[in-house]
Amino acid sequence: MARKVLVLGEVRDGSLRNVSFEAVSAAKTMAEGGDVIGLLIGESVASLAPQLIQYGADRVITVEDAKLKSYTSDGYAQAVLAAVEAEQPEGLVMGHTALGKDLSPRIAAKLGAGLISDVTALEVAGGNVVFTRPIYSGKAFEKKIITAGLLLATVRPNNIAPLALDESRTGETKSLAVTIKDLRTTIKEVVRKAAEGVDLSEAKVVIAGGRGVKSAEGFKPLQELAKVLGGAVGASRGACDADYCDYSLQIGQTGKVVTPDLYIACGISGAIQHLAGMSNSKVIVAINKDPEANIFKVADYGIVGDLFEVVPLLTEEFKKL
Ligand code: FAD
Repeated sequence: MARKVLVLGEVRDGSLRNVSFEAVSAAKTMAEGGDVIGLLIGESVASLAPQLIQYGADRVITVEDAKLKSYTSDGYAQAVLAAVEAEQPEGLVMGHTALGKDLSPRIAAKLGAGLISDVTALEVAGGNVVFTRPIYSGKAFEKKIITAGLLLATVRPNNIAPLALDESRTGETKSLAVTIKDLRTTIKEVVRKAAEGVDLSEAKVVIAGGRGVKSAEGFKPLQELAKVLGGAVGASRGACDADYCDYSLQIGQTGKVVTPDLYIACGISGAIQHLAGMSNSKVIVAINKDPEANIFKVADYGIVGDLFEVVPLLTEEFKKL
């Protein structure tokens, strides 16, 4: 059954986040040959529309307003609901990011729609879109369908492959006039933490440090390895609690969930709450002094040794490639 599916392109610092293209790919599966419509929200976002089209959207609608310069659930919900009203889609997809996690339940509640969050795979079977999502902190997966109303889903970054970029694809971009009512919250100023380089939740390579790193200084070899591999640095809660790094780096049940191609755990014991945030990584390498450490149970490759010896050696070897 062909469906019309709306997909939210997530804009950060003037660029589309990769998860937007993964969401387009998910929307394409849900649409079963129907229309995939990109939705861009912000102060001035129309210039990003061609990129969404080149990744598979058929056309794009934009909702632009100075009040939408920074994300607020109130403002974005007004824009999304207006787009849903105008397009009457059968499906709506967005990334399972901080933004998507905040916005999607609000949209579901306003529309009385079912929501399937944190989708890692999807397929069409028996006329239904079947969504796969992790449960019990990633220990099991469930398959779910929505039987009535809008198919609303959020997709976990780095799990659904984007479609190949086709620079020759073209499509219409249309501005949707929406009067954004006064917002209950407004963003006065955005103060950034000193997060540089690759975004942790979208990184293809993550080098994570735990309490075994021993100090803030101890993260330096990990940062160097991450730089050589074009990856991001993450951490266990143990390392964050010990003040070796910022909580924005925490991976796990109460931190970020990451699914990189390569996850290198350095001096991390592998507590269940940490595994909840990284055990679905494609290749896991663990470096730990303790051969009995739990992290080795989920690792594809284990190195029993001192991270302060092993990590610089890895960095030197990767530099040669
Ligand atoms: P440790 O358990 O102390 O392990 C340090 C490891 O480093 C050891 O295995 C040791 O052998 C190794 N080591 C030491 N020195 C070296 C060296 N020189 N070279 C190599 N290896 C070395 N934790 C998270 O990570 N994320 C979460 O989101 C999270 N949420 C939680 C939520 C709740 C409700 C609770 C109760 C706990 C949560 N935790 C979380 C905490 C979790 O239970 C662990 O306490 C934490 O993950 C331990 O961090 P760690 O592995 O860095 O430290």
